[in-house]
Amino acid sequence: MSFDIQHQVSLATRNSLGVEAWAEYLVDVSHEAQVIEALEYARLKRWPVTILGGGSNSVFARDLAGLVICQRSRGVAVDGNRVTVAAGESWHELVLRTLALGLSGLENLTLIPGQVGAAPIQNIGAYGVELASLLESVRAIDISSGAAFTLSCSDCRFGYRDSIFKHALQQQAVITAVTLNLHTAFVPQLDFVDLQRWRASQNAADVTAIAVSQAVAAIRRKKLPDPGVRGNVGSFFKNPAVAFARVAELHSDFPEMPARQQADGLWKLSAAWLIEQAGMKGVAEGRAQVSTQHCLVLENTGGCSGAEVLQLAARVAQAVTERFGLQLEIEPVVYT
Ligand SMILES: Cc1cc2nc3c(=O)[nH]c(=O)nc-3n(C[C@H](O)[C@H](O)[C@H](O)COP(=O)(O)OP(=O)(O)OC[C@H]3O[C@@H](n4cnc5c(N)ncnc54)[C@H](O)[C@@H]3O)c2cc1C
Repeated sequence: MSFDIQHQVSLATRNSLGVEAWAEYLVDVSHEAQVIEALEYARLKRWPVTILGGGSNSVFARDLAGLVICQRSRGVAVDGNRVTVAAGESWHELVLRTLALGLSGLENLTLIPGQVGAAPIQNIGAYGVELASLLESVRAIDISSGAAFTLSCSDCRFGYRDSIFKHALQQQAVITAVTLNLHTAFVPQLDFVDLQRWRASQNAADVTAIAVSQAVAAIRRKKLPDPGVRGNVGSFFKNPAVAFARVAELHSDFPEMPARQQADGLWKLSAAWLIEQAGMKGVAEGRAQVSTQHCLVLENTGGCSGAEVLQLAARVAQAVTERFGLQLEIEPVVYT
């Protein structure tokens, strides 16, 4: 074997929520051939396989039996505006690197934690931009056969925080590389109110892709709790999308409720606003707490378990249902 498989490995430092969970076996792989070899080994041993990136969108409420494969692959190949990136690269470093090369498109996705290989799983998005708008293809290895295959952007069936990797290909494929089509001419995407405010304070000539990236970083640092201080996975719930008739109904009872029309005609509501209005800001369940800084974030106040976080999530969702009749959907990948 070209790698070491470790036995009984703690995942506490491998997930941004910082909860304790154990991998029965774990391997760090640095290139595609090692992924294939590790999958073959797991097949021989009849071990189930779990893929782990940076652990910033994973909630462990149990130990992981079988083999956990962690991507450590590196490499960025640039061909004009086409950029092919190994799965183990840091997403945020990729953003900075492409901007430094004069390629734009990723600036609104600055400071999203995690690896490039995980980005297609939930079609990462922020400040009005989603990965799907820039992705050309995904290269992956089929977990059961070890065969490599490529999916185009449309094959990935991207939606809001959603893709084929959360459905038909859930834990069925190891993404080994992602190819993006970036822009050589900068087109600012400044629809979000925080970015509009920032734009209003700038001279037109100063609104560059790098400046937008810096503005996004400053906004995020101010708004979002730092997982390095209190463990968290960012937004714990998706923003609900509802039809106009439902928004109209809700607005008659809650006229101040924020709602934003999307390209598909549905209206996106703010889960953070719903949680705050349901009285859940700062509410704790064991050692898990709804952030007082941003209601959409559930925090590990110290020594918290994944189960405690999920109990708190259930309480938050119930409070929102009771007050507004809406169902919140959990955003991160949950292991129960
Ligand atoms: C503070 C904070 C802020 C955040 N802000 C945002 C945001 O603005 N927008 C946003 O969309 N998300 C956000 N997130 C969520 C998270 O950063 C992203 O979902 C990120 O893409 C997860 O990457 P990861 O490597 O940490 O994934 P992990 O948590 O390791 O894995 C997540 C899922 O992807 C699978 N996976 C990981 N790598 C691979 C691979 N190579 N092949 C196949 N499957 C794989 C795992 O099995 C798991 O199902 C935030 C998280 C935090 C903690």
